[in-house]
Amino acid sequence: MFLSPSLLDAVRRHARDCAPKGLYSFYLYDTTPMREKIRCLKTLMPRGVEIYYAMKANPHAAFLKAAREAGAKGIEIASLGEGKKAVAAGWKADDILFTGPGKSPEEHAWSVEQGIHALHLDSLYEAHRLNAVAAKASRKQDVLLRVNPNFHMHGAQACFSGEASKLGVDEARLHKILPEILALPHLRFRGLHVYAASGVLKVEDLLENCKLVFKMAKEVEAKFPHVRCDVIDFGGGFGIDYLETGMDFSPEAYAKGLQKLIDAFGFADRAFVLELGRYLAADSGWYCTKIVDIKDSSGKKQIICQGGAHHFRRPTALNINHPLVIVPMGVPPLFAGQEWVNDEMAFIGGSLCNTADKLTAKPVHLQEARIGDIVVLGLAGAYGLTMSHIDFLGHPHPPEIVLS
Ligand SMILES: *Cc1c(COP(=O)(O)O)cnc(C)c1O
Repeated sequence: MFLSPSLLDAVRRHARDCAPKGLYSFYLYDTTPMREKIRCLKTLMPRGVEIYYAMKANPHAAFLKAAREAGAKGIEIASLGEGKKAVAAGWKADDILFTGPGKSPEEHAWSVEQGIHALHLDSLYEAHRLNAVAAKASRKQDVLLRVNPNFHMHGAQACFSGEASKLGVDEARLHKILPEILALPHLRFRGLHVYAASGVLKVEDLLENCKLVFKMAKEVEAKFPHVRCDVIDFGGGFGIDYLETGMDFSPEAYAKGLQKLIDAFGFADRAFVLELGRYLAADSGWYCTKIVDIKDSSGKKQIICQGGAHHFRRPTALNINHPLVIVPMGVPPLFAGQEWVNDEMAFIGGSLCNTADKLTAKPVHLQEARIGDIVVLGLAGAYGLTMSHIDFLGHPHPPEIVLS
């Protein structure tokens, strides 16, 4: 990972500013990369492709604002809490897609009252309940149906297809369920949502997914001639190269491949939705935490940081290393012989009293690290703070500092 001189300066400055408040860890956000990605996708993607920001990747107001200002079509939410935040951040109800299983009656009522763009139905029960809510409000609500496809996606960091799933309705049951949904007078069926996998780096794998979804839509339309899938929602899934292998996801290749599929299926008059979280937000955030101790245990260096998995759970939860830089702070040693890391492998953990509290899943080789230095983990803009068990052990919450 490379830290620009201005970012390096920001890390040092904020580390010094936070310390007197007893805060030794913080997130730094610079939404410039996210804005650039959205603008770039908008120019690259075939006509009809709409970019939504999947809010759960990072619900901080700066990200909601960045997505809006950079011209994302809308925002994808998965709870009432997210919906209210999106509205507070200036998104209009008609910009909102509401996905996710287990929506509450209040969430349905709010969505219908607000007049959000569409809800994604996750089950037949949900369809019936939403229909009842919309009937009470004398409204007709646009819906997509989430399908658990019966194909399996390869090469994904997390796959939700091809097996029993709590998400969506099984493809095998689609043809039985769809007529029942179509018969509900207060729902307007707009199309299918098939989000098969997250964190996919290989464009071909995602395109294969698009192709199978297009086939599914064709089959639906063949079986029910009065039905049209006006909207086809592919969910999220564009991957991020956390391991810095150089295998970055190529939006250019994806756009080209998708255009070919659209032409081949004669789908030029349809709308296609991408709900992207990780790909948009990951490289706009850094988690920074101070090294508070260094020990030697059985010949292995153990770096203890003030923060840990309670602030940034991803490395240990997903068993991966994020890109990392040690920022030297030049703190003099407290005593002669104080441990430091000198061109060797080191484990990096946090201040929680359990061994699962790691900031890198595997030990890393470090040129140099000393007590008082700052560990900076990159690609921490997505699934960072809000995915972490922040109140476990009662440490202070890390501030989220927005640079731009
Ligand atoms: C989480 C989620 C997304 C975003 O996924 P990424 O892999 O971060 O792009 C999009 N849509 C739905 C329904 C989700 O649950």
